[in-house]
Amino acid sequence: MIAVVASNNAHKIVEIKSYLKGQFDDIKSLKDMGINIEIEENGNSFLENSLIKARAISNLTHLPAIADDSGLCVDSLNGEPGIYSARYAGEPCNDENNNDKLLKVLSEKGLNDEKQRTAHYTSVVVLVYPDGSYKYGEGKVEGTILHERKGNGGFGYDPLFYCYELKKTFAEITLEEKNTVSHRARALDDLLKKL
Ligand code: IMP
Repeated sequence: MIAVVASNNAHKIVEIKSYLKGQFDDIKSLKDMGINIEIEENGNSFLENSLIKARAISNLTHLPAIADDSGLCVDSLNGEPGIYSARYAGEPCNDENNNDKLLKVLSEKGLNDEKQRTAHYTSVVVLVYPDGSYKYGEGKVEGTILHERKGNGGFGYDPLFYCYELKKTFAEITLEEKNTVSHRARALDDLLKKL
């Protein structure tokens, strides 16, 4: 059986394929399938948004579809940017502007101590079958938001996210290191256990 990853994010596609390849004969990306659609993520939670993406692609292809919805949740900002992480600074999505906005919001609120800047990344990965049933996994990784960017790797908020387990930002580590602790790796592990 073939499955499709409902994402255009190259980072996510690589991670998802590497975890779930044993479950399917092949895992295709949207590009492989010639699918080019914008899916409106108008859910109220990471699970709702990943279901919206996977259901749309499963309905279109009649194949099992896998989607991830993820984001950065800052404790003292009541979990913001959360499900709005990708478009925190407004459309079009831009990592640089999102990082700048996060630094500005924390500083304007006087949240300057490390303990006031604790945060976690969350990921919810779902696998939706063509009959509409689904399974999902959830993962988290804890850290704190630095005052300035550190490292050149990763994407999104990685240069600002200092991971307590690795004692580095997510932009200072290799993809292999990231896969040992990342929210998405943990969500994929959780999902795999349920298959
Ligand atoms: P999504 O594609 O709607 O799930 O949005 C995910 C957004 O959350 C990304 O655009 C990033 O801003 C942020 N994000 C999620 N996972 C990561 C990660 O591993 N590193 C950095 N940023 C991430």
